[in-house]
Amino acid sequence: MKVQLVENVLKANDEVASLNRRLLNEAGIFALDIIGAPGCGKTAMIEAATQMLQPELRVGIIVGDLATQRDADRMAKWCEQVIQINTGKGCHLEAHHVRQALERMDLTKIDVLFIENVGNLICPVGFDLGQDVKIGMFSVSGGDDKAAKHPFVVCESAVLLLSKTDLLQYIPFDMQLFRDDVKRLNPNVDIIGISVPTGQGMDKWVHWIKAKRSLRFSRAEAASL
Ligand code: MG
Ligand code: ZN
Repeated sequence: MKVQLVENVLKANDEVASLNRRLLNEAGIFALDIIGAPGCGKTAMIEAATQMLQPELRVGIIVGDLATQRDADRMAKWCEQVIQINTGKGCHLEAHHVRQALERMDLTKIDVLFIENVGNLICPVGFDLGQDVKIGMFSVSGGDDKAAKHPFVVCESAVLLLSKTDLLQYIPFDMQLFRDDVKRLNPNVDIIGISVPTGQGMDKWVHWIKAKRSLRFSRAEAASL
């Protein structure tokens, strides 16, 4: 019975996720689901990337937290289309959360959508939101063992971010171990090291987003010809 229930929940989620995906694709929006532990720097990364992407690409942000409006307030400084979702005791975003947020946004004013998932490396991986890509984020301060301990996020990510690289000079972090673990789990995934305070790696990351977005939509145009 229990397994059946879980399957039904995921099936219902997948149906809403497909609707989200269709809506986003029709609007020409490239959507990234950002998954990382609390404190790894998801919000700071999105703030910095938003400033770099705009005005060339217009950014929308959906941010999930158990409580508070604080992240949305921070990000509202940099863009107009920001929706905070409070999940209460919920430890991940589900497709219906994103659905509700999309209904409150002006999709004609968005080219890139960041969905900041609830700080959690585990169950956000299992829920399709209708995103184009899932992006796993680890931090130097979180420790070099976290990729190995969270294999599913490594396997599902289109690219991995390693944040707070400015702390490498202060914190013991075995980069070779981290890279080897990632390679073993997902040989095709790249790791982009970033630091928001120094800006290191941010150009590469923003370029990645732009390149994937144009690839995504040039393909869609080619398919519709
Ligand atoms: Mg946050
Ligand atoms: Zn959860």
